[in-house]
Amino acid sequence: MTKIEHEIDDRLFRNAMGSFATGVTVITTEVENGIHGMTANAFMSISLNPKLIAISVDEKAKMLDHIKKAGKFAVNILSKDQKEVSMQFAGQNKEDVDVSFVTYKGLPTVENSLAVVTCEVQSGIVAGDHTIFIGQVTGVKLESHDPLLFSKGQYRELQGLQELQELQ
Ligand code: FAD
Repeated sequence: MTKIEHEIDDRLFRNAMGSFATGVTVITTEVENGIHGMTANAFMSISLNPKLIAISVDEKAKMLDHIKKAGKFAVNILSKDQKEVSMQFAGQNKEDVDVSFVTYKGLPTVENSLAVVTCEVQSGIVAGDHTIFIGQVTGVKLESHDPLLFSKGQYRELQGLQELQELQ
């Protein structure tokens, strides 16, 4: 590690990265002991042809081994009404919330999500304390809900969407 990296404060780095507003996803996959889900906002679209997406998974997350074993996963993009679902799969709920799953393209997906992208793992790249999985897209579903957002450590909803649409 270089001297410059040592000089950057962890809290400052986290706060600066947290100021980048995102949607919220739940990554789902199935292993021998059942369905496993994990909340994630490190998700991006990579390529249109072929269709590729990427997620980044902490080396401490159980999801890491589960994706390696399953070789496939689904990205469930959450709607504004699914804050409790996000909290469930981030271990933030005091009491467990029931979540319904629907099988799509051979993977468990979260019912009523705004969008679902199913993938087969194309590659896994270890980057520091995370692994970036690049997924080859096998299926896409899209509903017409509004998204759940995450910014500065808080769940948020879009406001003024109507006004923005009218400007377009
Ligand atoms: P666990 O901690 O064991 O599971 C997570 C939670 O999901 C537990 O409460 C578990 O009970 C529940 N759960 C799992 N499967 C099921 C099921 N079938 N039915 C019901 N409940 C179930 N971490 C990253 O690595 N990458 C990210 O991009 C990322 N983004 C995040 C974004 C947000 C907004 C938040 C809040 C957290 C994010 N995290 C991210 C942190 C990550 O969600 C947590 O560290 C999570 O606990 C790691 O999950 P795990 O795989 O280790 O499994």
